[in-house]
Amino acid sequence: MMKTIKVSVVTPDGPVYEADVEMVSTKAKSGELGILPGHIPLVAPLEIGALRLKKDGKTELIAVSGGFLEVRPDKVTVLAQAAEKAEDIDVVRARAAKERAEQRLQGKQDDIDFKRAELALKRAINRLNVAGTK
Ligand code: ATP
Repeated sequence: MMKTIKVSVVTPDGPVYEADVEMVSTKAKSGELGILPGHIPLVAPLEIGALRLKKDGKTELIAVSGGFLEVRPDKVTVLAQAAEKAEDIDVVRARAAKERAEQRLQGKQDDIDFKRAELALKRAINRLNVAGTK
């Protein structure tokens, strides 16, 4: 039997994912993180990116829009404003969000609007990557 670690991904709308997995990997602000069972306790802010979960030898992907990851020896918790399993991503919506963000970035904007559009673009690209489309 492979050793496993519990993972839960939680958003304001409720839990998105809960399972026992062999490995969790994702991109923290400080760089790539790979977490195996028994990892030392840790709290890390996350980038907008994919959460990769190795389960029964396969990799499952979840699009995570930033937030935090907390590691305890037997459990990983991801708290994010938004998170979607690959199969739950609406690709048409993400493509539309990407186009809207690109258009806003082209227009003349103040810094705050620019930053918001950049983040919206990142979320959309991340969703498309996780869903397996470009
Ligand atoms: P949009 O402009 O399409 O709303 P967004 O990046 O502004 O995109 P968020 O604010 O990150 O959206 O998310 C709002 C809610 O909608 C969250 O619950 C998120 O999981 C969900 N969501 C956003 N985009 C998608 C998508 N393409 N497929 C499925 N769920 C999505």
